[in-house]
Amino acid sequence: MAIRNGFLGRRNLLQVLGIGSLGLIANIAFTTPAFADTSAAEKIVTPDAALDRLLAGNLRFISNKANHPHQSLKLIQSLAQTQHPYATILSCADSRVSGEIVFDEGLGDLFDIRIAGNIATPEVIGSIEYAVVHLHTPLLMVLGHERCGAVTAAVDGGELEGEIPTIVAAIAPAVERVRGQAGDLVENAVVANIQYQIERLLELSPVIKTAVAAGELKVVGGRYDLDQGKVTLV
Ligand SMILES: [Zn+2]
Repeated sequence: MAIRNGFLGRRNLLQVLGIGSLGLIANIAFTTPAFADTSAAEKIVTPDAALDRLLAGNLRFISNKANHPHQSLKLIQSLAQTQHPYATILSCADSRVSGEIVFDEGLGDLFDIRIAGNIATPEVIGSIEYAVVHLHTPLLMVLGHERCGAVTAAVDGGELEGEIPTIVAAIAPAVERVRGQAGDLVENAVVANIQYQIERLLELSPVIKTAVAAGELKVVGGRYDLDQGKVTLV
């Protein structure tokens, strides 16, 4: 069966549906979501090319021109034995900041690490190191976001349940950096926290630091705007 550019041709789709021609079902063929899957994530070797691709995907997303790539059954099968994600994204667990949606990517493209406050815990560092050493991802983005609940909790202080104080404690030094500065403290702290977590990654991980020094890995900070969907480098 011919699958061109991930699109099942109309005739083929009708055959799959067991329908020879026309009628009401034909309309379904035209309204079925078409997921492009022209290829698995192409091997991107340079950090700058990876960053360009990431930001281009975000531009499609905010322009309402998302391709929703790499989400077909065919692609699932091609990825079953291997993966070549071109970027590692350390982002907040927040339900509104999903990497594949924000950057208009799909399966196999991004190595997602998500944790409240996008903090650099030992487990997070180990996950990044795995991506760098074993998957050779050339780009790492630490992605914070507007009105982050974890950062807000670190700003507000006070008693918190269970293990939440662990997260707050990991963000608190970033908050102290910007306390007293002009502007909104939470929003300033969101940016400060992105920069602080990057510093922590480089300080705590010789693996990451060495890859950066060798030019094999680029580490960037991104701030996601909840209102517009735009990612801005910070
Ligand atoms: Zn958050």
